[in-house]
Amino acid sequence: MTHVQSLSQIYDVALLDLDGVVYVGAHPVRHAPQALWAARHAGMRLAFVTNNASRPPDVVAAHLAEIGVEALPAEVVTSAQAAARMLAERLPDGSKVLVVGGEGLEVALRERDLVPVATADDGPAAVVQGFSPRVGWPMLAEGTYAVAAGLLWVATNLDPVVPTDRGRAPGNGTLVDTIRTATGREPLVAGKPEPPMHREAMLRSNATRPLVVGDRLDTDVEGANAAGADSLLVLTGVTDPEEVVLAAAHLRPTYVGTDLRALREPPEHLTVRTGEARAGAWRAAVVDGALRLTRDAAPAESAMRDVAVGEVAVGEIVTESQAPADSGADGLAPLDPADQDALDALRAACGAVWAAADQAGGRVAGRTGDRPTVQAAGGRTDKAVGGADGAAAQYVDPASVRAALDAARIARGRASSY
Ligand SMILES: [Mg+2]
Repeated sequence: MTHVQSLSQIYDVALLDLDGVVYVGAHPVRHAPQALWAARHAGMRLAFVTNNASRPPDVVAAHLAEIGVEALPAEVVTSAQAAARMLAERLPDGSKVLVVGGEGLEVALRERDLVPVATADDGPAAVVQGFSPRVGWPMLAEGTYAVAAGLLWVATNLDPVVPTDRGRAPGNGTLVDTIRTATGREPLVAGKPEPPMHREAMLRSNATRPLVVGDRLDTDVEGANAAGADSLLVLTGVTDPEEVVLAAAHLRPTYVGTDLRALREPPEHLTVRTGEARAGAWRAAVVDGALRLTRDAAPAESAMRDVAVGEVAVGEIVTESQAPADSGADGLAPLDPADQDALDALRAACGAVWAAADQAGGRVAGRTGDRPTVQAAGGRTDKAVGGADGAAAQYVDPASVRAALDAARIARGRASSY
């Protein structure tokens, strides 16, 4: 076996999205605790980056510990912190800031020598708005009075929904819409995919070569592309494989992995690149607007991975911090060769469809001018970003993509939380 470098050795810091990547609600994502332990062991540093502004870093770190992921509060980066930095750069020390949100924002403001206040009558110099279950009509009314008066207004993020145990619930984008409708004004935005969030994560983690890891195209991957960083999309959250194939250029990741075990893989097992229509035993082509995926009769050498065929772990909750009991030398279950084979089919499909779409559309990768997620709070649905509104769907029949991926037995998103 020749030694090749894994992602965890090539990149110095993983900027990890949380929901759909590390956990789904109260439970760890399959293999996540073991994979993150192994990544640290390989020398990679971790930063846990969340758009959710409701909880301060120590509470997020405690939640991660509960699901078997060691994390220091200093390794947690929230959109509340990014918003507080934006405010601190624009206001004198000691300025009062009206909080439409919760404890996470109050802690982040104090860290920047800003003073949280609760009403527009307290003399605030600005308004900051972030998700909290505490936000109700009285708080939204205070925010509206202050925003209508012309004060600086910063929103932590514009995610339209938050996942809950009972399904989708209004997220900060929806609550921002309330004040936007009432005042006709627009906030500055800190969270993914906007640049301040990435900058905050870079500053706090001292990353020189970061890898953005996420489950969403329109926040994690778009944010990474806007910042010029490489990204790994994992299929444990909200993104279906079909959406990746149909993604517009600014939403395309550098790598695609089944789950966080991808951090242990070398880049050549995970790369998705426009025009690279062969991967492993698979080759893809777009013929008359339809995707065709074919597998070599004899598996190509590259498909014969030198991984041991062993038991695949079944996602038990890990409570101890040492290398969890599992197969594999580093405590991590090896990737099932069938999973890698399906991933290869997906990678080939992306290479072919992206090239066909770019040629037909006369556009090339790197288009970052439009920002679907900025409009997300205005009524776009999640699926629209990579699907019907994605550039590729105009040039390649989405039904042919679905059929080809189904035939290649590519699993759909596994742990969709909303
Ligand atoms: Mg996520």
